[in-house]
Amino acid sequence: MTTDQPILIAGGGIGGLAAALGLARKGLPSAVFEKASKFSEIGAGIQIAPNAFNCFDALGVGDAIRAIAIYIDKIRLMDGISGKEIFNIPLDQPFREHFGNPYAVVHRADLHTILLNACRENPLIDLNAASSAVRYEQADGEVVLHLEGKPPIKGRALIGADGLHSAIRAQLIGDSSPRVSGHTTYRSVIPTEQMPEDLRWNAATLWAGPKFHVVHYPLKGGKVFNLVVTYHNDVTETVAGEPATDEEVLCDRDPNENWIDGHVTLLGDAAHPMLQYWAQGACMALEDAVCLSGAIASHDTIDAAFTAYHHARFARTAQVQLGSRAIGDYIYHPSAGSAAARNAILGAKTAADWFQTLDWLYGYRAD
Ligand SMILES: Cc1cc2nc3c(=O)[nH]c(=O)nc-3n(C[C@H](O)[C@H](O)[C@H](O)COP(=O)(O)OP(=O)(O)OC[C@H]3O[C@@H](n4cnc5c(N)ncnc54)[C@H](O)[C@@H]3O)c2cc1C
Repeated sequence: MTTDQPILIAGGGIGGLAAALGLARKGLPSAVFEKASKFSEIGAGIQIAPNAFNCFDALGVGDAIRAIAIYIDKIRLMDGISGKEIFNIPLDQPFREHFGNPYAVVHRADLHTILLNACRENPLIDLNAASSAVRYEQADGEVVLHLEGKPPIKGRALIGADGLHSAIRAQLIGDSSPRVSGHTTYRSVIPTEQMPEDLRWNAATLWAGPKFHVVHYPLKGGKVFNLVVTYHNDVTETVAGEPATDEEVLCDRDPNENWIDGHVTLLGDAAHPMLQYWAQGACMALEDAVCLSGAIASHDTIDAAFTAYHHARFARTAQVQLGSRAIGDYIYHPSAGSAAARNAILGAKTAADWFQTLDWLYGYRAD
């Protein structure tokens, strides 16, 4: 499908920028509308699995991301009570060969900047900060996006990539607020000197304990450590999350298969917000972006493209949404006998077992 009329994208996070890049790579113009006064990401780390690297390559930023990524040696699950390792997944050459790409960690702001610069360099992408999407309307195959305090914008289609509290989703689905999980997470990035010397591992490490877990891994060439503490404290209210050191009440939603309203669809956290326990929310947003831009380019109509996108993405993202909850309950936070069972079951797995277990997730190509 080729047209000069832009595809409108609400939200300039990882998902929205990736969608704009994906469309531009197919020769399709887009306009991104970001609520914040400037395009930016919070100062914390993010894990990127092989399935995300497949997306970076499809978006033309694979080499740039590889150049800033930290290649950790392993993923480690530690018993937070005994201090013993439950299992580790080596991320060396056999892993890379099996999945066709590495598993790495990056600073979110660095990743976002690479996507943003690639968008800025592309004349097919129009970036607009301080542009908060409020609602949309549709007529005669056109979408009109209404922005707070600005003139309405017309486009051929609209992608709601405006995150957990999406305004586009609120109109499209009209469901209630996201589900508060009862878990609070505290994110911080600390200088490596403040990390105990015997814990300065080049690994994505998770200490699992009854109703809590702690994650740490190096960032920025090993100069700092990403440190995240999550506590299942049954909180019931949402507080505003701020960059680093502040608390954030974790929310997700049940899968909802209603992602399409005419020429409007959803992507990333707006479509399928999930707990971070599988470290796959951004990876899924990237996959969505590659899949959706490919579908728009290869189908004759927006209707056909959106149907194909939904067909390709709903079950997969729902599986990760529900799986992330289960990981919290059965792997990260159990106690007593359930924790002992976890240790026995997962501790018996070999690297080959893990490759097989993770094939459906890490081996996926969205293009
Ligand atoms: C503690 C924690 C750790 C995580 N770790 C990982 C990890 O290791 N790996 C991983 O893959 N994922 C991880 N995630 C998940 C990941 O951060 C999200 O899934 C991902 O950022 C979603 O991207 P998005 O672009 O869909 O939404 P967002 O990143 O939320 O971007 C949405 C954008 O839309 C803008 N916006 C909001 N409302 C409007 C509006 N009305 N109009 C215009 N713009 C608007 C926002 O300002 C924002 O820029 C983690 C999440 C948390 C909370």
